[in-house]
Amino acid sequence: MTVVHTPIFPVLPGTTVNGRPATLGVLGGGQLGRMFVHAAQALGYDTVVLDPDPASPAGRVSHHFIQADYRDTDALRELAARALAITTEFENVPAESLAELARARPVAPAAEAVAIAQDRVREKAHFSRCAAQGSGVAPAPHAVIASEADLAAVPDTLLPGILKTARLGYDGKGQARVATRAELAAAWRQMGRLECVLEQRLPLAYECSVIVARGRDGQVVSLPVQRNLHRDGILAVTEVFEGNVPYASAKQAQAATISIANELGYVGVLCVEFFVLEDGRLVVNEMAPRPHNSGHYTVDACDASQFDLQVRALAGLPLAPPRQHSAAVMLNLLGDLWFDPAGAPRALPWAQVLALPGAHLHLYGKTEARRGRKMGHLTFTGADAAGVRANALRAAEALGMAPF
Ligand code: ATP
Ligand code: MG
Repeated sequence: MTVVHTPIFPVLPGTTVNGRPATLGVLGGGQLGRMFVHAAQALGYDTVVLDPDPASPAGRVSHHFIQADYRDTDALRELAARALAITTEFENVPAESLAELARARPVAPAAEAVAIAQDRVREKAHFSRCAAQGSGVAPAPHAVIASEADLAAVPDTLLPGILKTARLGYDGKGQARVATRAELAAAWRQMGRLECVLEQRLPLAYECSVIVARGRDGQVVSLPVQRNLHRDGILAVTEVFEGNVPYASAKQAQAATISIANELGYVGVLCVEFFVLEDGRLVVNEMAPRPHNSGHYTVDACDASQFDLQVRALAGLPLAPPRQHSAAVMLNLLGDLWFDPAGAPRALPWAQVLALPGAHLHLYGKTEARRGRKMGHLTFTGADAAGVRANALRAAEALGMAPF
């Protein structure tokens, strides 16, 4: 397939190309891609998804699906030929593939922003730069360890700490908690002497995140601050309602996220994760250059979801400020729930869960449940936080999830 350089930007809804609706593309076929596809299709676009998995959640619902490796140049060419603009949904998508696509089509976010987010060393340097320029929120005290000399030079103040590989970590993978210099040295060697960041282990009161969308024209809109509970390094619960986080912290986290996006010249949806320390201070942890698990509640609780914003930013449409219209609690549905305590597969009580007011069940169409695998999520919405929490807790109990 040859790439047709169709100069159609912005890609307005209702645009047709060769008698078909204009197509938007996404590199990556996971649940984030699936929800992007749903949002794009609601505006009348056709969609094309590229993913190596023949049964990928987004591939199943897209008009076009290209089953290929993310680095397959023929497949990338086909993606660029079909789509008028292309985004990504996958944390570790090769930045070079995005750069390749960008030679043919508008791509958002840019390969360079994705590359920074994929590398904890560059990411932390970006956060430190933003803090120095007045974002007001710095990363955790840390040191880069790339050699035995770096290891020897680590200050004692960073221990106890968490050693994280600079690249390819997610959901708590590629991390080790270390209390002493001996443990640190052993953990770094165990990780194959890869470039790592050692962070001081901080006394967390809780964690939160902020999602913003930024357009090509520099317009930025922000979603409310999400309060997140992680279990075993994986997001378990997100709560979003008035007062989930003190007002001043919420404003500070939103302002810091906007400055992080602006300083990157970012285009698209960006999520930044924060720690709130026991003394109330905010610390910036990491960013995801895409919609985020903690923003799934926006589909049911806001007048524009994070995926609607991703479509708009990609297509070059205006970004109206989104408004949360309902209090929300989101429960992540991990594959663990699909097994009983003895490890045998079990049926889930969906009828009981769906009988609860304000329940919105989202399953991603994954046919095989595995421990730790994100199978879906369940958002509760309602007029007030107490009622929403009560229903979410009832659902958690019915599903065999720990209370929160
Ligand atoms: P994600 O799936 O969010 O990408 P990740 O594997 O990239 O996760 P982090 O977000 O860096 O990892 O860390 C995972 C969790 O470990 C955090 O959400 C937090 O609970 C805890 N954690 C990480 N760094 C620190 C720290 N410096 N001090 C205390 N706790 C920390
Ligand atoms: Mg994280």
